[in-house]
Amino acid sequence: MKKIESKERQKLKEQYPLLNKLISLEEVFWMNPNIEKFQTGIKKSPLTNDAVRDAEERLKRFAPYIAKVFPETKETNGIIESPLVKIPDMKRSLEQGYQQAILGELLLKCDNQLPISGSIKARGGIYEILKHAENLAFQHKMLTLQDDYSILDSDKFRNFFSQYSIAVGSTGNLGLSIGIISAKLGFNVTVHMSADAKQWKKDLLRSKNVKVIEYEADYSKAVEEGRIQADSDPTCYFVDDENSHDLFLGYAVAASRLKKQLEELEVTIDENHPLFVYLPCGVGGGPGGVAFGLKLLYQDHVHCFFAEPTHSPCMLLGLMTGLHDKVSVQDFGIDNVTDADGLAVGKPSGFVGKTMEPFLSGNYTVSDEQLYMLLKELVDTEGIHLEPSALAGMIGPTKLCNEGTDYLQKHNLKEKMSNGTHIIWGTGGSMVPEEMMTQYYQTGLKLSLEKQK
Ligand SMILES: *Cc1c(COP(=O)(O)O)cnc(C)c1O
Repeated sequence: MKKIESKERQKLKEQYPLLNKLISLEEVFWMNPNIEKFQTGIKKSPLTNDAVRDAEERLKRFAPYIAKVFPETKETNGIIESPLVKIPDMKRSLEQGYQQAILGELLLKCDNQLPISGSIKARGGIYEILKHAENLAFQHKMLTLQDDYSILDSDKFRNFFSQYSIAVGSTGNLGLSIGIISAKLGFNVTVHMSADAKQWKKDLLRSKNVKVIEYEADYSKAVEEGRIQADSDPTCYFVDDENSHDLFLGYAVAASRLKKQLEELEVTIDENHPLFVYLPCGVGGGPGGVAFGLKLLYQDHVHCFFAEPTHSPCMLLGLMTGLHDKVSVQDFGIDNVTDADGLAVGKPSGFVGKTMEPFLSGNYTVSDEQLYMLLKELVDTEGIHLEPSALAGMIGPTKLCNEGTDYLQKHNLKEKMSNGTHIIWGTGGSMVPEEMMTQYYQTGLKLSLEKQK
């Protein structure tokens, strides 16, 4: 990829003064100036409501198979879904800690508890592999729409899928998701892992017969290598985290499920009851897909914000400059080094950035220190264990109420805030080994004590 020349860099810094704060790794809050009314924005979208419904139907067809091979999904009849819970004690703690009232109710979407791979990647990643498996089985007349898909749990199908391979590049969580489901179906699967991927994730995958290749470089390099491997082998299918519409649609299915959960909790979302959703963002597919699905359902009544580490603000950089995947944080000397697994991405998805441009409310960054302190606080107040990246959303309501007043004003939301609902998307955590989680907690505790001094 062509590097940004220093003259152009200088020009961008003058045009977008917030860039200087990004470069000095300060936390920032950015309002998207290109947001549009849903009805005009959706006309530009490459994806439709029908595509999301199609993905939802496909996941229903696979549910009998999922329930059979992953017994932890029996209770939900093979539907991979997570709880939505109120977190009033955490809300109180945030209000005290940051001396900032949060108007409206605070809820946590617990994707850390998603079965099979314990993170948001159990949505898009698993969906894409199921779709590929279905396509292959259809092509070879081994499966019809009328079949009970639990027949896929057989040597006949495993032998069939073993003629094919799957490749993916990942910082860890996508690899877990793709690796586990692909191996279960019988595929030969290779995960290309970036340098920041955790050892326990590699070990876990190898124990499940997944081939893991390690790189010294970051996520973009791991993806590139995966793509090269797949290109040289016609039986290999590459899961393209940077461009995949299927991943995006798998994530988008979350929205209709969330709508049901909100109704069960008797939470109203309408003109006078706004919904705010805060989503940790890496390359963009996960948060983009979920936000897209939510916009289809709630249109202008939902306001979605992406959250990124101060060291990896790739989506914010791409959206703000309009350069999308033509720019990386490294172009501006930002190191892309963060403890937030899944968010250590230097170059955003161009597809997601362009698709979300009319719909996204804004974007903000958060420091690793903050993530650890929020992690500790959520354990203390609610007894919920998330991994550091999954806490990036948690500071969103505080930032919106404090730094986002222009946004609230512009969208006529000020008077409606006390009727509103904030959902923090808790994107991962349940697979993290206990001793690792204890270390995270201790780091948060230490930082909190230092802050109090
Ligand atoms: C991957 C991931 C994200 C972000 O998803 P992207 O599709 O990369 O933007 C957020 N949180 C966790 C825990 C993740 O693993």
